[in-house]
Amino acid sequence: MYKGYMNRFLEVDLTHRTFRFGQPDPSLFAGWIGGKGVGLKLMVDRGLVTHDPFAPDNPLIFMTGPFTGTQVQTSARSVVCTKSPLTGTFLDTHAGGHFGPALKKAGLDWIWITGESDRPVYLHVRPGEVRFEDAAHLWGKGIFETEKALREAYPKARVALIGPAGENRVRFACIGTELYRQYGRGGAGAVMGAKNLKALVVEGDEKIAYHDPAGFQELNRQLTKDIVAHPNRQRRDDLGTMMWIRMGQEQGHFLPTHNWRDTQFAGYEGITSEACREKLAWKSTGCFNCAIRCSKEARWGNYEVEGPEYETTAFLGSGCDIDSAEAVAYANWLCDDLGLDTISAGVVCSFAMEAFERGIISAADTGGVALHFGSAEAQAALLRQIAHREKIGDLLAEGTRIAARRIGKGSDYFAIQIAGMELSGVNIKGCASMGLTLATSDFASHTRFWSASAEMRKELTWESTPDFVRIGQDVVNTRNCLIVCDFVMYDLDRLAPVFEKCTGIPMSETDMNRLGNKISNLTRLYNIANGRTRADDTLPPRFFQEPHEAGLFEGRRLTREKFAEWLDMYYASRGWDAAGAPTPATLTALGLNPI
Ligand code: SF4
Repeated sequence: MYKGYMNRFLEVDLTHRTFRFGQPDPSLFAGWIGGKGVGLKLMVDRGLVTHDPFAPDNPLIFMTGPFTGTQVQTSARSVVCTKSPLTGTFLDTHAGGHFGPALKKAGLDWIWITGESDRPVYLHVRPGEVRFEDAAHLWGKGIFETEKALREAYPKARVALIGPAGENRVRFACIGTELYRQYGRGGAGAVMGAKNLKALVVEGDEKIAYHDPAGFQELNRQLTKDIVAHPNRQRRDDLGTMMWIRMGQEQGHFLPTHNWRDTQFAGYEGITSEACREKLAWKSTGCFNCAIRCSKEARWGNYEVEGPEYETTAFLGSGCDIDSAEAVAYANWLCDDLGLDTISAGVVCSFAMEAFERGIISAADTGGVALHFGSAEAQAALLRQIAHREKIGDLLAEGTRIAARRIGKGSDYFAIQIAGMELSGVNIKGCASMGLTLATSDFASHTRFWSASAEMRKELTWESTPDFVRIGQDVVNTRNCLIVCDFVMYDLDRLAPVFEKCTGIPMSETDMNRLGNKISNLTRLYNIANGRTRADDTLPPRFFQEPHEAGLFEGRRLTREKFAEWLDMYYASRGWDAAGAPTPATLTALGLNPI
């Protein structure tokens, strides 16, 4: 048994209301560390690959990593692994807050949940104990009211839960925790709703043991010192992720605007960090054990929320031409309460606004809502329709890919998704490398790798980008096993020794890079088994047909031919064939079997 882990898991079957505790095979940790790696490996080994995401056998796995709940900076992080109802492929979706550490305190490395309850239920988990509790009185309620009720009933517990969007199987429903934190991307909340599981209430007081407590403490002391002294820490404390609004507008020219048609927004001054500090009385806050404190508590009128973050603002704000910090914060609040991923929700709203202004959908579809760009009232009405699957919201709840297919009339041109996932990050028309990153990642989210900073600093060339993206994706995979926040400024060379002192598992930076590569290949196999092909590794037509404003293709069009060339270079760099499948030689070298 390795240290740093609790060496215990819990499996729950909601259909039969049974559970069992078990001891993980230590080789899982030695080979796959934890978090995303272990979640993926478990699903593959159990043959859970081509099933329906809403079927009872789709597992919802609340996974920790060896760093979760420890002294390592940003150790709040945990991950939910499942099969996404939005993409139909593997999903790992991460959250901060305090829920991950609570899992460890409950004496668990992970909770694996399958089945489907015949009525709404919540689970109360303590060390060695699981109770199935009736949730009929909570069903239909928002995340805020539900979490407050459960925290009152269980004052020492931490809660992960869904809102109406998850109950109604909106394909981009999130799982909320700590009111304002989310396992956001890919629809894990809809999987939880399909199981009739309203909430998971977790508590305990178990302690984590370390392999070399003194050595672990010393490395963490130095890491913390370096993080605190790093110039990016102060910037994140001052400006939060919202610093990217001004940078995207003024330096990069890649601020997603008007459903990604534009890269700059005339009203951007209304939604910057500075505007939020003034209008929303921002105060810095942070997740469990984090000195970076990028989060911001916002208070205005009768409302409060943690946020808004850059991505939320780029898609519910500039993406929809909404130029008010209060309006964006309100949409953020609404999504957090309804249980919607703010990123997909924002992109879906801007898609619907463009369809409305092009005359493809009308007020007859929206229940009379005039869905114009810039209308915060229309956006709020649409978010409610989506979460409750009313009117056009029922179709939009399926995500932009399915909505565009059903609406037709050329709407796929401005449906900003890749393989079902609404894009996030920056406008590709100002940052082409993010296009390659999003098109080749296991799903199209900025959380897979952020190449925008390097492109903005002009460190990338056409030739160097495919290798750069591949290496970056692999590093992020390993970080998502450990698990550390994306905003920790130090990489695997610093984290590998910390991991060894924590767990006793010897693993070099090279070993960790190899694991990241293994995960890229295994998720690729998983996704290919679910129908992903080279044809999916592409961009929405808008990014090929309209000229780029900045970045590697400034002043030019990124043609389909040029993108196909880039894809070939990326596949070659990965050891994949021309169809985008790992070759037998690549699998052998990584010790992977075909799926
Ligand atoms: S940097 Fe921000 S998101 Fe990351 S752990 Fe700290 S407060 Fe949470």
